[in-house]
Amino acid sequence: MQEQLVQKIVEEVLQQVLKNQPSRPDDGKIPIGVSARHVHLAQEEVEQLFGENYQLTPKFELSQPGQFAAEETVVIAGPKGSIDRVRILGPARTLTQVEVSWTDAMKLGVKPPLRISGDIKDSSPVTLIGPKGSVVLPEGLIIAQAHIHMSPADSERFQVVDGQSVQIKVQGLRPIILSNVMIRVSERYRLEMHIDTDEANAGLIQQGAFAEIVNGQVMEPLTVNEMPLVAKQAPVKQSIYHFEKKLLSQVDVLEIEAQEIVVPKRTIVTALAYDKIRELNKKITIRSE
Ligand SMILES: [Zn+2]
Repeated sequence: MQEQLVQKIVEEVLQQVLKNQPSRPDDGKIPIGVSARHVHLAQEEVEQLFGENYQLTPKFELSQPGQFAAEETVVIAGPKGSIDRVRILGPARTLTQVEVSWTDAMKLGVKPPLRISGDIKDSSPVTLIGPKGSVVLPEGLIIAQAHIHMSPADSERFQVVDGQSVQIKVQGLRPIILSNVMIRVSERYRLEMHIDTDEANAGLIQQGAFAEIVNGQVMEPLTVNEMPLVAKQAPVKQSIYHFEKKLLSQVDVLEIEAQEIVVPKRTIVTALAYDKIRELNKKITIRSE
């Protein structure tokens, strides 16, 4: 009980802190973050690669709250080649996922699909090699689809909604337009567009550059039959998510895209998490072990 109360307080404080973060000036500019190739690991794979009970070591914080680049790196390998010192991003997730550029993929000898992070079903196989072992993943290698993280306040300001695709323009020496850039809205996101190194190189984009939305009409939600071709190709969200950690907080609920969250009986679900589940019209199922 005590633990639940403490968590509730922590969550409430965290929420206030996030709410009070200064918003950027209303100039329509979106900072760009260039994502180099990286790996997200599940704890199981952390241990296979680095040893039993190993914990990732944060090296520096990333722009999105709670995310960090780890000291640890791995080698990633495909049928045609390998790439050394690929950075691991923490904290550990439920699914291991490797994000590379098309240029990297050609070096590895695979043709990974273009996906939104977290959607790895039927993606390319990849091998990870660490100091204590290796892992052969039948799927998990993707090229990350360009996306913009933003808060609900920013989504109102830009008149866009979560899951919407927009077109963006980057000014500079070699101006470019990128289409199908996906909007991702969460209370815990800070405004930033994430593109990979191929996209950045195409526009001679360096860290610190800005993007502007040039086409962002808000569309009414469509039924499956009315969906245009582009929307049909959009990644299908997993509908059930198996949550395995000790505590389900509202931050976790916000991160989970699935409609139904299954938790083991021993998992503590905070009151705020329950509120968020109701608010988002999600379903929670307690699994008896
Ligand atoms: Zn991102």
